[in-house]
Amino acid sequence: MKSHEANVLNHPLVEHKLSLMREKTTETAKFRLLLREISLLLAYEVLRDLKLHEVEIETPMEPMKANKLEGKKLCFISILRAGNGLMEGMLDLVPSARVGHVGLYRDPKTLQPVEYYKKLPDRIEERLSVLVDPMLATGNSAVAAAQRLKEAGAKNIKFACLLAAPVGVDAFSEAHPDIPIYTAAIDRELNDHGYILPGLGDAGDRMYGTK
Ligand code: URA
Repeated sequence: MKSHEANVLNHPLVEHKLSLMREKTTETAKFRLLLREISLLLAYEVLRDLKLHEVEIETPMEPMKANKLEGKKLCFISILRAGNGLMEGMLDLVPSARVGHVGLYRDPKTLQPVEYYKKLPDRIEERLSVLVDPMLATGNSAVAAAQRLKEAGAKNIKFACLLAAPVGVDAFSEAHPDIPIYTAAIDRELNDHGYILPGLGDAGDRMYGTK
């Protein structure tokens, strides 16, 4: 499953849904629905090693020892704005998770991230933080957002995206070798404007019907 230091989901359902998302004729509502569906499958993989502990419960038939999740609630941190699309689906799976947002926009000339918003859950140092952004392109925003999480005290971080460019995976792994990357696919390259090829275009615009 390892490739370019990322965990690439390898599942026919994911590939099929991703191909539908890539098609330029796929309209906004359908795009958002597909993103939500893939985010469930991504979360399933990202959260595979959540810790369990044994508790006593009673079924209608008899008492039994059963496993439940242990420890502080995990949190999802969305890199605004496109991160929200991935985060919403993951919240369907773990509705009690805390949610944080980091607002970074990409300066179109330098492609460097500029922070305009940050709100993170309390006691982040006790939680697993799943940082989400659909597109890992240059890696600049994800690297900066992960840095903000670490500065806030987060110690256990994972990064989940939909599509990654090899250069973004390399940049992120180099800056944060301790943070595993999960993605549905790694595409060929970036164009001169920092967009992923073949990609799916601007994820935020396609989710929200903006241009
Ligand atoms: N952000 C996007 O939305 N799309 C890309 O291809 C790269 C960054």
